[in-house]
Amino acid sequence: SALRLASSFKAADLTIERNPECKPKPDPSTLMFGKQFSDHMLTISWSEKDGWDAPQIKPFQNLSLHPATSALHYSIELFEGMKAFRGVDNHIRLFRPMLNMERMHRSTKRSCLPLFDKSELLQCINKLVEVDQDWVPFSQDASLYIRPTFIGTEPSLGVSRAGKALIFVIVGPVGPYFATGSFSPVSLLADPAYVRAWKGGVGEYKMGGNYGPTIAVQSEAQKQGCQQVLWLYGQDEQITEVGTMNLFIYWTNTKGERELVTPPLDGIILPGVTRQSLLDLGRTWGDFKVTERTMGMKELLEALDAGRVLEVFGAGTACVVCPVGNLLYKGKTYQIPTMQNGPDLAKRFYKELTDIQYGRKPSEWAPVV
Ligand code: PMP
Repeated sequence: SALRLASSFKAADLTIERNPECKPKPDPSTLMFGKQFSDHMLTISWSEKDGWDAPQIKPFQNLSLHPATSALHYSIELFEGMKAFRGVDNHIRLFRPMLNMERMHRSTKRSCLPLFDKSELLQCINKLVEVDQDWVPFSQDASLYIRPTFIGTEPSLGVSRAGKALIFVIVGPVGPYFATGSFSPVSLLADPAYVRAWKGGVGEYKMGGNYGPTIAVQSEAQKQGCQQVLWLYGQDEQITEVGTMNLFIYWTNTKGERELVTPPLDGIILPGVTRQSLLDLGRTWGDFKVTERTMGMKELLEALDAGRVLEVFGAGTACVVCPVGNLLYKGKTYQIPTMQNGPDLAKRFYKELTDIQYGRKPSEWAPVV
């Protein structure tokens, strides 16, 4: 077992089987998120008995799984979401990919799946992006979405640690979240009856089991005319996340200071790469206070009422930042003046991150593949 934890697959052992029948690339303007995939995939299998197999890049294909596969019964499954960008200089870059590898490693531990060397996995992913490089859109509005996935493939029904497992990585081109140049605000349903994650639970890990149950709540939000869910938690109705994004509030606090607030990583918040990047940028700029702390609905509504809220936005890989326009809470709609305020800060973050991602601004955050 110690040997198992200490060992990892190695990128140097990677084998590549090229797809003889590559598909035509879709028109970037017609891309639907997560529906188109490239010509290749990466797979790395593991078993208790033999350890890690050599990583393989091979033609994109279906998996063959035993019907008792533990991922299918007990959600022994975790994933990541990251992107590759084609820059102005035609180089392809990832964005802070080691943060994704670290998060995946933490999810792996929590799932009792076998650990691996993060840098070896990143090298394998780089190789997959290189093999499928023509799939990285020739556009500064689109990108190649990368979905690393790790499943337990133990072919038995006992609720126990998987003795077989599979890492696979698939990639596909995705279009812009917003039509070019337009930032459109979303409306949120805030209903304390629904909880996404809880103290002592697994909300801070990117496990599939955290996401399936949110679909019914998302569809309830849509039924009520809202686009996404504002997830609340606890007696004080803490505001935690929005849809699958971290939440940011830019306001004038009660001391009269300009402040950017986001909930702390206290176990119920997914530690977003975008979240971390906005915190890092905000702290570097030094133009306003940057605070990680919990905020309840009551405090937010009071600040809204007092006209102290400047911008509310979500932050995530899909959109970078997504402005919030209004909130439906206990039957009442509250307007949020994000758009009326520019949104200056959301736009500044958007420009800074996309400049880095598309190589318009050199940065250590965006290593070339
Ligand atoms: N919160 C949740 C629940 C998410 O699923 C995601 C997407 N990974 C995020 C926040 C944003 O994280 P990131 O910036 O790494 O995309």
